[in-house]
Amino acid sequence: MENTIHVIGGGLAGAEAAWQAAEAGASIILHEMRPKRATFAHRTDGLAELVCSNSFRSDDWQNNAVGLLHEEMRRAGSLIMRAADAHKLPAGGALAVDREGFSAAVTAALSAHPRIVLAREEVTALPASGNTIIATGPLTAEALAADIAKAAGEDHLAFFDAIAPIVHRETIDFSVAWFQSRYDKKGPGGGDADYINLPLDEAQYKAFVGALLDGEKTDFREWEKTTPYFEACLPIEVMAARGVDTLRFGPMKPVGLMDPRTGVRPYAVVQLRQDNALGTLWNMVGFQTKLKHAEQVRIFRTIPGLANAQFARLGGLHRNTFIHSPRLLDGQLRLKARPHLRFAGQVTGVEGYVESAAIGLLAGRFASAEALGLPCVPPPPTTAFGALLGHITGGASPTTFQPMNVNFGLFPDLPPGKRIKGKDRKQAMSERALADLADWLGQKEAAE
Ligand SMILES: Cc1cc2nc3c(=O)[nH]c(=O)nc-3n(C[C@H](O)[C@H](O)[C@H](O)COP(=O)(O)OP(=O)(O)OC[C@H]3O[C@@H](n4cnc5c(N)ncnc54)[C@H](O)[C@@H]3O)c2cc1C
Repeated sequence: MENTIHVIGGGLAGAEAAWQAAEAGASIILHEMRPKRATFAHRTDGLAELVCSNSFRSDDWQNNAVGLLHEEMRRAGSLIMRAADAHKLPAGGALAVDREGFSAAVTAALSAHPRIVLAREEVTALPASGNTIIATGPLTAEALAADIAKAAGEDHLAFFDAIAPIVHRETIDFSVAWFQSRYDKKGPGGGDADYINLPLDEAQYKAFVGALLDGEKTDFREWEKTTPYFEACLPIEVMAARGVDTLRFGPMKPVGLMDPRTGVRPYAVVQLRQDNALGTLWNMVGFQTKLKHAEQVRIFRTIPGLANAQFARLGGLHRNTFIHSPRLLDGQLRLKARPHLRFAGQVTGVEGYVESAAIGLLAGRFASAEALGLPCVPPPPTTAFGALLGHITGGASPTTFQPMNVNFGLFPDLPPGKRIKGKDRKQAMSERALADLADWLGQKEAAE
């Protein structure tokens, strides 16, 4: 079958990709290594197994970006959302599912599809040719991971999320913060103010170090302890434990900086670097951490300028295989160097069940359009699909790229004249997204 699409990995992304491509009319072979080969986290041989929580997070499409992504997926005929809705459990505004019923429904639908063949086998190398989607997830088996590293370049495949918290710029207090690079060095864009700086005096710094040491942490799991690389990106609280001045001579060093309010160098500084092309999200440089999420919010809001900070994502450090998509993938999720290979799911550097499935949905649609000789139209950037796709294929900073959940910071702002704040803004963005999605789905249907 010349136009057959090979989907490698039957998790959230691979299951959705196979479904979308088959529904569009393409023939699929879906390769899943379980039960022949296990991962650290999967417990069953079911497709789309949820490895941890059973929640798809908020289902509120008007006020929450992941809720909007649910709704867009439903409207695009998602199998994952169909199975989730059919196996929904009571969970307030969240969409929680019965994990066994959910996975069984996905497995049954894919197994029964006349254009899908399920092959229970491990794929150990990237196929040399043929329309292929790689959706092997954060626990990609070693042999394939090694081959991906070869194709991507060793530096472009990560085995750990070393995530520094990311802050919504509009929640930073600019009566305290200022823009400056150390020694006023010019940035890559020629700008001389690439960082946002937050100053700490001696008492504030010492209290902050004390809070890091006392804060509640999460432990590494046994298997994470044996995975290499995390010495290279130490959690901030581990640095703090090495001595009271370690951070002040490390990521919090104030050299080459001057607080414009006082005219003097601060005792210590927290720097934030731009994290997306829109300039709405800023990354706390060097602040990867194993502190529990609630502790991060409590402690980081004591930093001057961050009292009201909202975090697009909090810090973390855990095993996760992902490629540097902004450098490696084109706008249709193809590996630029080998365009017969597409990537989908968590391995592209999105984070979460729903985001992984959403990127699978797009990969399946793109791959089937190619197989069937149809035009491949990407979703508008104003939709949650488009915002997420744009982030991993170009919007994210290639130097600080780390896996990301969908959030409104990834969406282009409303047009001038329509700019509003808070809940109304999210609602207006969501309404715009669904209107633009309808055009996109209509356009695609027209093309088909
Ligand atoms: C321990 C852990 C806990 C997580 N908890 C959550 C959570 O609570 N909530 C949340 O939203 N997200 C969570 N995530 C993140 C992420 O959302 C999930 O991992 C999600 O399942 C990713 O979807 P995926 O399709 O990309 O990968 P997966 O769902 O992992 O699917 C990949 C599939 O590929 C198969 N595979 C791997 N290598 C090969 C190969 N070489 N050949 C053939 N098949 C292969 C695997 O067996 C698997 O079935 C967690 C991740 C991990 C690692």
